[in-house]
Amino acid sequence: MKLQTVNTNEEREYIVHQTAQAFLSRAQKHDEENTFPMENIQELKEIGYTTLTIPKEFGGAGLPLADWLSLQEVIATYDGSTSLSIGWHMGIITQIIENRSWPENILDRVLYEVLHEGKLLNAAASEPETGSPTRGGKPTTTAKNEKHSWVINGRKSFTSMAPALDYFIVSATMEDGQVGNFLIHRSAPGVKIEETWNSIAMRGTASHDLYLKNVRIPADHFLEVIHPGKKSPAGWLLHIPACYLGIAQAAQNFAIDFAKSYSPNSLSSAIKDLPNVQVKIGENEADLIQARYFLYGVAKKWDTSSQNERLEMQSELSSVKYHVVNSAVNIVDRAMRVVGAQSLFKENPIQRYYRDVRAGLHNPPMDDRTLVSLASKAFERTE
Ligand SMILES: Cc1cc2nc3c(=O)[nH]c(=O)nc-3n(C[C@H](O)[C@H](O)[C@H](O)COP(=O)(O)OP(=O)(O)OC[C@H]3O[C@@H](n4cnc5c(N)ncnc54)[C@H](O)[C@@H]3O)c2cc1C
Repeated sequence: MKLQTVNTNEEREYIVHQTAQAFLSRAQKHDEENTFPMENIQELKEIGYTTLTIPKEFGGAGLPLADWLSLQEVIATYDGSTSLSIGWHMGIITQIIENRSWPENILDRVLYEVLHEGKLLNAAASEPETGSPTRGGKPTTTAKNEKHSWVINGRKSFTSMAPALDYFIVSATMEDGQVGNFLIHRSAPGVKIEETWNSIAMRGTASHDLYLKNVRIPADHFLEVIHPGKKSPAGWLLHIPACYLGIAQAAQNFAIDFAKSYSPNSLSSAIKDLPNVQVKIGENEADLIQARYFLYGVAKKWDTSSQNERLEMQSELSSVKYHVVNSAVNIVDRAMRVVGAQSLFKENPIQRYYRDVRAGLHNPPMDDRTLVSLASKAFERTE
C-alpha cells in the first residue's frame, strides 16, 4: 500500500511497520556479510517512502518534520543502517528545497527524478583529510572550470548508501579558493565506488569511499557556494537522533522480551520479577520518554516556526542530538546489563544495537562542538 493514499501519521506508521518488519531478519545477514540492504531501499521506494518529504507544491506529500522523524524512528527499530541511509536522502531534499540555492532547472529535474523514477541522492562531504566537514576543513577534492564544464578530482569517505545512490552531492575546492557543491551522477565517467567500509557500527550503510578521477560534468551541475563549518540550523538533521532512538527502543524491547522469558533455576519465576531488573527497565523507560518529548517537541517547534525563527534554533537542535544520542547509548548499555552475558552472543541483535548506537556519537554535530557552542552562548548571555 502506498503511503500517499493515507491521511494520518498513525496510518503511515502502520504501513512502515508492516514494510520494515522484514528488515530485522535481514539486518543480521547484512551486518555479518558487510553488505548493503538494497531490498529494504527498494521496498521503501515501492510504498512511496522516499518522496514523502518533497513539499506539496513540488508534487510530494510535504510531510512535516515531526511526522517524518517518527517514521525514521520506526525504521530504525528494525534496522538502524536503513534508517540512517534513507534519512540522508530525505533530509537533504528538504534542505535543497528550503535553500533554493541550486540552479532552478537542476532542482526541478532532480525532484522530478526522485518523484517519478525513485532516484536517490546523498552528500559526499567527508574526506580522510578533513575529518568531519562540520569542523571547517577545506575539501582537498578539486573542481576545475574547463570549456563550459567542470572537472572534479578527489576522494570522499563515509558515502552512506553508496550502492543505491543515483546522485552524489560532492563538495570541492575551486581554483579561486571558494568551496562549492557539485552534482555528480553515478554513471559519469571517472566515478568509482571503492568498497572500503568496514566499520563495526552501521555496517549496512555501506558508507564507502567515492573516488573521482577527471570526472567532467556540465557547467550547471555546479550547485552552490558553501562555507565549510558554517551552516544554518537544519531541522532535517534530527533524523540522526531519531535513528539512534529507534535503535535504543529496539534494545529495550529485546531486554523486556528476554526478562519475561529467562528463568534460571535459582528463581521461581522469570527475571522480570526482580527489582534490580525492573529498575533498569524503568530507567530506560524514563529516558525514552524524555528523549521522545525533547526530540518531537523541538521538531514540532521547527514545523511551526518561520524561517527567521528557525535561524535561532541551533542550540535546541544540537542539544536534542546531544541528549538523545547519549541517552540512546545509555539505554542500550542498561538493556545489555538486563540480558547479561547472552547480550554478547553474536546471534542476538542486541550486540549489533550496541555497536550501531555508538556511531551516533560521530554523526554531526559532535558533542564537543555542541557543548562549546552552548557554553559560549551562556557566557555571552551573562556579559
Ligand atoms: C555511520 C556513519 C555514516 C556517515 N555518513 C556520511 C555521509 O553519508 N556523508 C558524509 O559526508 N559523511 C558521512 N559520515 C561522516 C561524518 O559526518 C564525519 O565526517 C565522520 O564521522 C568523521 O568524524 P570524526 O569525528 O571521526 O572526525 P574528526 O572531526 O576528525 O574528529 C576526530 C577527533 O579529532 C578531534 N578533532 C578533529 N578536528 C578538530 C577540530 N578542528 N577541532 C576540534 N577537534 C577536532 C575531534 O574532537 C575528535 O576527537 C558518516 C559517519 C558515520 C559514522
